[in-house]
Amino acid sequence: MNKPSRRPLHSLAALSAIAACLALPPGASAMTPAEATTAVQSLLGTAQYKAMAAYLDQDHDRIVEQNIALQQVPAPSFEEGAKAQLFAKFMQEAGLDTRIDEAGNVLALWKGTEGKGAVHVVGAHLDTVFGRDVDLRIKREGTRLIAPGILDDSRGLAALLGIVRAMKHAGVQTHDDLLFVATVGEEGLGDLRGVKQLFLRSEYKDRIRSAVMVDTGSPDQVIAQAAGSKRYEVHYKGPGGHSYRAFGIVSPMYALGAAMGEIGRIRTPKGTTYSIGLIGGGTSINSIPDDAWMQVDMRSASQPDLAALEAEFLQIIAAPVAAENQARSTQSGSISMQYKLVGDRPAGSTPSDQRIVQIALAASGSQGWPARVASASTDANLPMSLKIPAVTVASGVGSLNHSTKEYLDIEKGQSVRALQVTLISILDAGRMVVAP
Ligand SMILES: [Zn+2]
Repeated sequence: MNKPSRRPLHSLAALSAIAACLALPPGASAMTPAEATTAVQSLLGTAQYKAMAAYLDQDHDRIVEQNIALQQVPAPSFEEGAKAQLFAKFMQEAGLDTRIDEAGNVLALWKGTEGKGAVHVVGAHLDTVFGRDVDLRIKREGTRLIAPGILDDSRGLAALLGIVRAMKHAGVQTHDDLLFVATVGEEGLGDLRGVKQLFLRSEYKDRIRSAVMVDTGSPDQVIAQAAGSKRYEVHYKGPGGHSYRAFGIVSPMYALGAAMGEIGRIRTPKGTTYSIGLIGGGTSINSIPDDAWMQVDMRSASQPDLAALEAEFLQIIAAPVAAENQARSTQSGSISMQYKLVGDRPAGSTPSDQRIVQIALAASGSQGWPARVASASTDANLPMSLKIPAVTVASGVGSLNHSTKEYLDIEKGQSVRALQVTLISILDAGRMVVAP
């Protein structure tokens, strides 16, 4: 009944923040913690917000059910299709039209009142680190659901669905467009291909002003720093042969082992990390392998530190070739090494004084989690590297993701509060139209 006022929520913030806004594109404005707290409290005080919060509480069971339904669909990176279809169906039921783009992302546009203006991305990712053969059955311990992918990022996907339903239910309007996206290729060798499509090639790319990515199970952290990463696959190759009859010839396995031992001795500055995540090779127990390989992940929020680590790594992997060729016979062939870059994620950050970071911190604080700025590698890396204000926030409570002990705590009170951390960030980004 009430005609919504044209007054954006932004106007409730302190005047100095508005002044700072004027010179900057939407989304890229500075804010103090006090101003952010005031803006969040104003939002929480609106009738529309209260209606949404009450609806999220009432909708808790369905959000959990959809979380589970999505988790049950295997979705290793590059095989997200079935899960994308299910998410699209749920989003359609929630009331937004969906389409699947060239990369396989599911897109659902929430139209703002200002027509073809700014777009704010709200994303969660479809893919998981788990292969098709991993057992996805859920174990329950108290209020914890334990299963691969239950949190990362099926919770984020379920949160987007619950939030869209709550916004629809409360009759919310936003000034700007919100583009809800379920992305492909966030994990592992996916190499952010979903967000690369969205931010670099889609029809929205020039209109995107900010991005709120929904991932992780730690509402006390706002990810505003993007750890960059370099990932390599390294192969040592040799002639191969019978373990008994060809004994004495060079073996790629020893070269690989030597390289692995040396990599383990690299010393890095704080915040710069590496891991040999997968190894493989060989054909049988009674063969000298003709191929032995590893996949290595290196990360840092600092581009120079990452470059230094990469240079040391490339030196280390070259050394065992000559050593192995000297140590054993090369009569039937010698050892060679090949490597390729299989992942390259840019580092970046959103400055802590930016509105999007301050609002996310204040949102967490308002829901009982005094939060800090953290660093991680997520879909937000890409917008950050393009200097588009972006954060990754939590929508649930859980941990141990990327392991089979991954869990999500579905205790209702804290689950609903965690959803609100995301909701507040989204409403501020899209500039909710405040009803008088
Ligand atoms: Zn994730």
